[in-house]
Amino acid sequence: MSKTFPRRTLIKAVLLGGAALPLAARLVPDAQAAAQPLVDPKDPVAASLGFGVDTTKIDGKANPTHKAEQKCANCLQFQGKAGDKQGACNLFPGKDVVATGWCKVWAQKPGA
Ligand code: SF4
Repeated sequence: MSKTFPRRTLIKAVLLGGAALPLAARLVPDAQAAAQPLVDPKDPVAASLGFGVDTTKIDGKANPTHKAEQKCANCLQFQGKAGDKQGACNLFPGKDVVATGWCKVWAQKPGA
């Protein structure tokens, strides 16, 4: 024998659930916007990629393809928005890079 919900109970549940969704969305932090710990240039992966926090101080002899206008902020891998001081990088899950940084994997972000 199956048990059925009274129609009134079902309608209340739907209405309460619908009202709770916007509140729940506000309480859950936006993972993309939340700042994460910064990548340490001494991290072995970062060091192997020649990562630095200031693109103007990248060693040109060690990185002959580097240009001063290349920085994390205009890199294809940077997940921050225009004007953000730091943002996630696809190469460093769970970490942020500073917008002024650079590494050997830099590639031009279209439109940046
Ligand atoms: S891949 Fe791009 S955003 Fe990531 S550290 Fe290198 S230059 Fe910066």
